[in-house]
Order: sequence, then C-alpha cells, then structure tokens
Amino acid sequence: MNKSLNILIAASEVVPFAKTGGLADVAGALPKALKKLGHNVIVVMPRYYSIDTAELTLLEGAMGVPMGPMGEFWSGVYEGALPNSEVPIYFIDYETFYGRKGLYEEDGFSYADNDNRFLFLSKAAMQLCKKIGFKPDIIHANDWHTAAMPLLRNTRYAWDETFENAATVLTIHNMQHQGYFFKGGIDVMEIGWEHFNPHELEIHDGLNLLKGGIAHADAVTTVSRKYASEIKTPEFGFGLQEHIKTHAHKLYGILNGVDYEEWSPEVDPMIPANFSVDDMSGKAICKSELQKRFGLPERDDVPLIGFVGRFAEQKGIELIADTIEGLLHLDAQIIMLGTGEKWAEGFFSKVAAQHSDRFASFIGYNNELAHMIEAGSDLFLMPSLFEPCGLNQIYSLSYGTLPIVRATGGLDDTIENYDPHTGSGTGFKFDYPTPDALYHTVRWSVDTWHQNRPHFHAMQREAMYARFDWEQAAKGYETVYFKVLFDRKAKEFLAD
Ligand code: ADP
Repeated sequence: MNKSLNILIAASEVVPFAKTGGLADVAGALPKALKKLGHNVIVVMPRYYSIDTAELTLLEGAMGVPMGPMGEFWSGVYEGALPNSEVPIYFIDYETFYGRKGLYEEDGFSYADNDNRFLFLSKAAMQLCKKIGFKPDIIHANDWHTAAMPLLRNTRYAWDETFENAATVLTIHNMQHQGYFFKGGIDVMEIGWEHFNPHELEIHDGLNLLKGGIAHADAVTTVSRKYASEIKTPEFGFGLQEHIKTHAHKLYGILNGVDYEEWSPEVDPMIPANFSVDDMSGKAICKSELQKRFGLPERDDVPLIGFVGRFAEQKGIELIADTIEGLLHLDAQIIMLGTGEKWAEGFFSKVAAQHSDRFASFIGYNNELAHMIEAGSDLFLMPSLFEPCGLNQIYSLSYGTLPIVRATGGLDDTIENYDPHTGSGTGFKFDYPTPDALYHTVRWSVDTWHQNRPHFHAMQREAMYARFDWEQAAKGYETVYFKVLFDRKAKEFLAD
C-alpha cells in the first residue's frame, strides 16, 4: 500500500509526557511507526501541568471547544514532537481541567468531573483538526477517555467537511475501565437524546462512553488477539460482553510492539553486563549482581525467579500470596519489584524479612531495578488474571528470562508453552488461576532448570530470537485503517 493517510490519534496519556499504563506506551510508539510507513500522523493529549512547556510552541489564538449547556471553553494549544521523530503532538491546555496533581485521580479518589475533562479532550481533538486544517482519513480513539470521538464523528460533526473522509477506530487497552457517568454528558456532547439508548450509550440509566464508542467506531481493536475473543465472555467483558458480541464483526486483535532500543541485553546501559544469544556469559554476571543488590546469597546453583509489576488484583498478586508457602519450599530464589495495594506491599515485605535467604522485595517504582530483574533472572513470574497485552513478559523473552504465565490475553499470544518432548517453547503456562496451578507450573519450570538444562538453554535461544516490534503492529493497524475506509466509501456509494 502506498497511499499516505492523515491519521489523528487521541489519548489521555502518551509516553514520555504522561504515563500510568500500557496505553501511554502505545500512544507514544504507534504514531512513530505509522509515520515510518509513510503516513501523516498527529497526536492529541491533555496538557497536564506536570508537562513542561519550555520546549513547546504555543499556537496563536485560543481554541474554542463547545461544551453544550456550559457554553464554549477557550483553551490554549501547545505543539511539540514525539521524541526522535517528526510526529507532531498537540497538548490541550485548560487549567481548570488539567492543572491538577493526578491524571485521573488524587489520593485514590477519581476526579468527580472526569466526564467533562475527557469529553472536552475528545471535542478539543476534533476542534484542533479544524483549527490547523488537518482533514483526517482516520480518527483513532483510545479507551473510554476518547471513545466519544467515533460518536461525535457520526453525530455532532457528521456534516462537517473537515471530517467528511474520516473513518474511526477505537482501541481497547483495558476493558475494566469504561467511563461510566451521569447521563447529562449527552448535552455536553451535543449529540441528541435519541442516542441515549441501550444499543449505544445507555447503561443503568447512565452513560457508558466505551459502550458508545464501540457502537459507533468503524473498527474496534484490542491489544492482543486472545483478548479480543476473551472480552466476549462474562469473565473478561466487565458487563459489556453482549455488546461486544453484537459488534464482533468489526473487532480485531493487534498485538502491541515493544521498544527493543530500550529492552535488549546487547545494548541495555542499565544492566551490569551486556550479553547476547551467542554469548550469554554476561547474564551470569547480571544474576550475581542482582542477588547482591537484593541481599540474597550469590548462588548459581538455584534458579532466580523475578516479578515486576503493579501490585493489583489484575496481576495475580493474591494468587502469589496464596501460593507463597509452596513457592518458598522450592529450590529457587524469588525477587519481587512492585507497588500498589497496601496489603500486598506489607505482605511481601514481611515474607522478605522472614525468608531473606530466598525471597527479596523492593516496594516502589524503579526502572533500573526493572531492567536488572529482566536481565538477571532465569524465570519471570506473571500470573495475571487478565492481561490485554502485557509488556514485561515480552521484555523477559528478549533477555532469555523464561516467563511463567497464565494463558490469558497477550500472555497467551506471546508465550509458547514448553514441550518436554521436543524442548521447544519460550515459557511455562497454566490455564486456571488457582494456587495449585500456579504452584505446579512454577515447580515445573524450576525442575526443568535443575534437571534439563539443555532444554532450558534451547528455550532461552528461542525466546531471544522472538520479535514483537512496532513495525509489525503498525502494519496491522494500517490494514484495519484501509479496510474501514474502504467499507465506509462502499457504504456511502451504496447509499447514494
Ligand atoms: P500494565 O500496563 O498493566 O501495568 P504492562 O506489563 O503492560 O502492565 O506494563 C508495565 C510496565 O510498567 C512495564 O514497562 C514495567 O517494567 C513497568 N513497571 C511496572 N511496575 C514497575 C515498578 N515497580 N518499577 C519499575 N517498572 C515497573
């Protein structure tokens, strides 16, 4: 394909400007990869007040954003570029909404006006296109925060010539958060109450923005294939499973890429020694330095199991806690890095104090330690209850650190289970999130390390050769973009 598309990508967080999760990684990396494929991409996000504007340019003139009964809100717009690229990024500056400490919440409480804050962002992104004369072929919204955009394209802006070519794509990064609000948002969107019905936006007499976005987008994508099929079930659909099933014909799974410039043992400057698939000697140094750093005995005769991630239910931390006694009896060492739920922080710190010969933890967010754990561990534990894509297991593969995962979402899509007959595979998987299943799978991996080193080494090689890059992911999105444009044109043609 060589037609160059105009693509508008809007997101509530974008790396490196603001990040709470994987959404920010995608919004920071995908636009650059699309640009490399020859497309014109612009990105829009809020100007949170943690973002320094010194290197940004303030566009001339305030931008009006119509907010229904509240009238027109006037905002500033800063322009910058995504790092090491020519992809423009626009920051919507409106102090009343974004001049706060948090992105979505403070001290565990969501901001009460999150509906207006992100309906405003969605509309501001549309208004920005008009202001700078950008006529999008594709409007790409992400999660509930910007899910109103496909709706706005089909309603409030249906007759606006700036958007006459625009088809819409909505990416779901996490189904758990749907943007459930008071129904008055209909007036703020200025879309008419006929859209307040159970097939579009309504749920329990309130608004569900993700639901409305799913109904109106020309395509809906998830960040892995398996997750696309899982969200059709009650376990993963968080109440929207029937709605997803209704729209399954336009649902696609496209696996995220990872940034191999940052996460490769050959070049990683944060690890004690570099190594590669052909010379693994540095990995042994990484292991002993990691043991030293965490105060564990420097032993090369036991496997080291690492964990990095949010201490949240999603990540299976209750499962780990419920299995801890069994895990501590294995001939292995365990290191956990994370922060989140207070009970878990306390629990894992206590285990570390009581079993300092085999278990260590660091409570907090520390990127250097995350790199050291990926590089120095033999095995990586990621028993998530659900995982739309997951990054850490992919980083682990790159360092020859074999993941132990629950076979869900992106974990299932990226990890090949060990086959003891052939020695192939890149990790160890289990299906049901029970302590028993977790224990036996960890034990299986530890036994393989002790008893079948040739297989373990073969798996490490296979893992290190696996590649999940952004070019591949961007080509997946490009295919969806062309399909939705074609379908929209065909529909218009047939309607004439
Ligand atoms: P999620 O987006 O659901 O939190 P992912 O696996 O997709 O999970 O991405 C998590 C990212 O955050 C990874 O880059 C991981 O290294 C990083 N991370 C999570 N917790 C920590 C921590 N305590 N210290 C350093 N990095 C962390």
